[in-house]
Amino acid sequence: MAGEPQDDCLFCKIVAGRIPATVVRETETTVAFRDINPQAPTHVLVIPKVHHPDAVALATAEPAILADVVRETGEVASDEKLDSYRVVFNTGSGAGQTVFHAHAHVLGGRGLQWPPG
Ligand code: 5GP
Ligand code: ZN
Repeated sequence: MAGEPQDDCLFCKIVAGRIPATVVRETETTVAFRDINPQAPTHVLVIPKVHHPDAVALATAEPAILADVVRETGEVASDEKLDSYRVVFNTGSGAGQTVFHAHAHVLGGRGLQWPPG
């Protein structure tokens, strides 16, 4: 069923506590943890506890939880004292998505170029 935990999903395992992560925030519906391979001084991933393959699938199935994820990106930025930051939803392998459980990257703490390349 849509949203159910997937045995082969890395981020479902983090939600379940079966793989350790440096969790910085948790709500009823979301978890935020530091990326294992940070691309900026702050690089936090905000994920829904439910499993959907990407942000658009989450938006379609459970829009209120996508709103929770986006709200939490702002809370992370506030906790990290970032006045400027970038929120990224890589979608599809051609755009660099490697984990097919919806997640927002929160990047900050250095200058960020636009366009990103
Ligand atoms: P994507 O490339 O799918 O947009 O983002 C997946 C992110 O998950 C990558 O930035 C990658 O560094 C991060 N990642 C992969 N495996 C782990 C892990 O086991 N723990 C943590 N904390 N991050 C991970
Ligand atoms: Zn998952």
